[in-house]
Amino acid sequence: MRGNSAALEAAGVDFCYYENDGLVLREVSLELGAGELVGLIGPNGSGKTTLLRVLSGLLVPNRGKVYLDGQDIRTFDRRRIAQRVAVVPQELAMPFAFSAYEMVMMGRTPHVRPILGAGPRDRQVVAEKMELTATSVLAERPFSELSGGEKQRVIIAMALAQEPEILLLDEPTVHLDINHQVEILELIKRLNRRERLTVFATMHDLNLAALYFDRLILLDRGQVVANGSPAEVLREESIREVFRADVQVQQHPTHHTPQVVILPLT
Ligand code: ADP
Repeated sequence: MRGNSAALEAAGVDFCYYENDGLVLREVSLELGAGELVGLIGPNGSGKTTLLRVLSGLLVPNRGKVYLDGQDIRTFDRRRIAQRVAVVPQELAMPFAFSAYEMVMMGRTPHVRPILGAGPRDRQVVAEKMELTATSVLAERPFSELSGGEKQRVIIAMALAQEPEILLLDEPTVHLDINHQVEILELIKRLNRRERLTVFATMHDLNLAALYFDRLILLDRGQVVANGSPAEVLREESIREVFRADVQVQQHPTHHTPQVVILPLT
């Protein structure tokens, strides 16, 4: 056991997919306190998705450790991890014609007892989570026929059906229009504030990340190069260096958050 209160922690994590390749994550250390709302930013290929997979225990670090509630995550089996940590992946390929309800019920898998199958409590949790994500009206619709925003809400409901304490989301707003981006981020914030979920999400859009997350972590080529409030992390020099883009950082007109303005090359 570790003597701190982090819900999830990476300590000195190195990771590579293939032995002879370079490290995808290098000495990554970070803590997610219970009830925090943290965003992970960084250019394409910087290791964000890999870090989420390592934090969920799906990938095992080559060096360093991941701690869940202060205990080495490798001492938990997958079912016990899934009862505490839920992952919302970027793409969810669903080759079969499941309804939205059936998809959300799949989230109960870590709790459903084999042979006995889903019981009244499972159905109650599924109904609650569909209500919370405004997906009850979609229950009978085939998942594959839903819009991007509707799919994302169903996938979040499915993750919530696991009744996790920690929600890890991989680019939850990618492929969505701005109104649906806002809708999903408002939902995520509500889950954090009202349902007290610890949230860690990778974010593509720096301005939305600054608006919605209390703390940001910036990854560059597998290393954490900044970790703090949006104002501390979104600095012109570091964005120029990490993203290789010319930018100006201004203040949001109505919120005290930094907003990144792109300066064209010509
Ligand atoms: P990001 O999410 O920041 O775009 P990723 O974690 O997806 O970054 O990728 C980091 C690096 O790891 C990239 O160089 C990518 O090519 C490599 N990578 C990602 N997934 C795999 C995989 N399954 N097998 C081998 N290499 C991978």
